[in-house]
Amino acid sequence: MEKIVLLGKTPEELKEIAVAAGLPQYAGKQIARWLYVRRARSIDEMTDLSKAGRESLKERAEVGVIEPESFVTSTDGTRKYLFKVRCRITESEWEESFIEAVMIPDGERKTLCVSSEAGCKMGCRFCMTGRQGFHGYLSARDILSQILSIEESADLTNVVFMGMGEPLDNYEEVKRALDVMTEPWGLAWSPKRVTVSTIGVIPTLKRFLDESRCHLAVSLHDPFPEERASLMPVEKAYPLKDILALIRRYDFTGQRRVSFEYTMFSGLNDSLRHADELARLLRGLECRVNLIRFHKIPDFDYYTSSPDAMEAFRERLERRGVTATIRASRGEDIFAACGLLAGQHGK
Ligand code: SF4
Repeated sequence: MEKIVLLGKTPEELKEIAVAAGLPQYAGKQIARWLYVRRARSIDEMTDLSKAGRESLKERAEVGVIEPESFVTSTDGTRKYLFKVRCRITESEWEESFIEAVMIPDGERKTLCVSSEAGCKMGCRFCMTGRQGFHGYLSARDILSQILSIEESADLTNVVFMGMGEPLDNYEEVKRALDVMTEPWGLAWSPKRVTVSTIGVIPTLKRFLDESRCHLAVSLHDPFPEERASLMPVEKAYPLKDILALIRRYDFTGQRRVSFEYTMFSGLNDSLRHADELARLLRGLECRVNLIRFHKIPDFDYYTSSPDAMEAFRERLERRGVTATIRASRGEDIFAACGLLAGQHGK
């Protein structure tokens, strides 16, 4: 019999598992505390459960933290972890895959960039993850393992869902992981420490905006619909104008923030005409634009914009009233930078 995985479960669900194992109802809360506050790796560690209860629980359940297979460290301190996971493709089909998480140190901050899917089905032309196709949805357990198993786990200040996959294509499991991270019974992080990045899957974007208080980042990359569609096929199903109309219905003037990611391709989307149109689309919205250097991938003819072109673009946005920053690129030597994650074993 396959064992029940405790990691990712709510106290209510843990209560049911505990009762089925002959433990009292309140053991659900005790187990949640062991999992998320004390970060236990085995049921044996849960010493305030009776010995008999622990034995009975062990017969049917396991904690389930997945340890990384390996890691590589960049000259700039960025570290890329490789995990082997078994993930769902359809209701009845499962596949073993490799996924990656990237830890980025920056002064006092340690940010972890987590994956939400193995590969990705969205097919953005400039992205290595998209190139490898879709290999399955990660479970909340797989997502939380990336956070809980790594050496820097206790020191993480932020988590961003910007690794492999489109988080809002796997909303139920991502939401479950977000709940564990931010609920008082879980890791109890402030939602301000977590950012979910999406290309704009509108139905689940709406649910995310309604059901979570975590920050939002939207991959924008081009303000003109036809050009954006040639880079990101999702534009045809969920146009940017509809995404922005939805976002404008929510309040980003308080604690919650929205940012827009804009990867810069020389001669494609880096003209001042593009900056003007971008500023027009974002007018009046409390937000930030992050300009990102493109990392060349095979069979895509564009190169990154020059530092001068990026600075001119940034200045133009600022002059038009849009806050914009050029994001430093990290971990390039270990292929950990934006758009380069491919889950290649042993890379
Ligand atoms: Fe998927 Fe994001 Fe890559 Fe697009 S950029 S293919 S959504 S991982």
